[in-house]
Amino acid sequence: MSNLPLNVDYNGKVVVVTGAGGVICGAMARAFAHSGAKVAALDLNEEAVKKLADELKAEGYICEGYKANVLDAESLEKVHKAVLGDLGECDVLVNGAGGNNPRATTDNEYQHEAKEGGKSFFDLQADGVDFVFKLNFQGTLLPTQVFAKDMVERKSGCILNISSMNAYTPLTKIPAYSAAKAGISNFTQWLATHFAGTGIRCNAIAPGFLISNQNRALLFNEDGTPTARSAKILNGTPMHRYVDAEELLGATLFLCDEKSASAITGVVLPVDCGFAAYSGV
Ligand code: NAD
Repeated sequence: MSNLPLNVDYNGKVVVVTGAGGVICGAMARAFAHSGAKVAALDLNEEAVKKLADELKAEGYICEGYKANVLDAESLEKVHKAVLGDLGECDVLVNGAGGNNPRATTDNEYQHEAKEGGKSFFDLQADGVDFVFKLNFQGTLLPTQVFAKDMVERKSGCILNISSMNAYTPLTKIPAYSAAKAGISNFTQWLATHFAGTGIRCNAIAPGFLISNQNRALLFNEDGTPTARSAKILNGTPMHRYVDAEELLGATLFLCDEKSASAITGVVLPVDCGFAAYSGV
């Protein structure tokens, strides 16, 4: 990548990225490959990771795409075996798969504004809430159980989780996703402590507001005009703009680099144009 945000050398390192078929983690997988890493791109969406791997290989980089379900230990064990054979033991694990689900989202910000026929807090479905908690929390725990074993044996390695702005203060309408990401920030500190004596570091980044597949409908009306929520987000962001996925890459490469960030473990780094720092006044 000619415009890599950080000059770090991942040559020879095996970097496993879950959710690499998506916007953010696809960009991360590219950045690691462009920094010399051998990248294992994992996703439920096999087509997306195979395409990513093909593109990177055609550019002369090392990347293999694997279909994997981060909620299925058997699927992860199978992929782990394949990665060991194709690329080697895991040095860096990025737990990127995650997201919200409409079944765990209310239509209104406030109960007193809930409208007849809309989905209020009282209509949230237990299976939707369960889905979101599982995807974000277990979807981080299970891949860590599988891939961090390589690191424990070698007494070195790094785990990067993806938290969110909603982990600091919950965002309206998305109670389960907010609580699940707060769990990820908390779990990041737990893992950092638990693995501290083994040479493994664990950190997280908390991306600010990006425009992505998951939130496009919340930010823009069907005709492309910004929603009221979009205006509120920008008013609550001191830099008054959305974050570009590319802007997460510097923090990602920095935190996972054993030289640059050797004493950094247990942090959640916001990359948010100031959103988490601003009280609104
Ligand atoms: P995305 O939807 O573009 O990518 C998520 C990827 O995860 C998809 O390719 C999907 O196929 C994959 N996935 C879903 N379930 C899976 C499973 N069970 N097993 C394996 N893969 C699975 O989303 P994104 O915006 O790139 O988000 C990436 C991460 O960043 C997520 O953890 C998300 O919660 C977090 N995040 C996103 C934003 C944002 O504004 N987009 C902000 C903060 C945090």
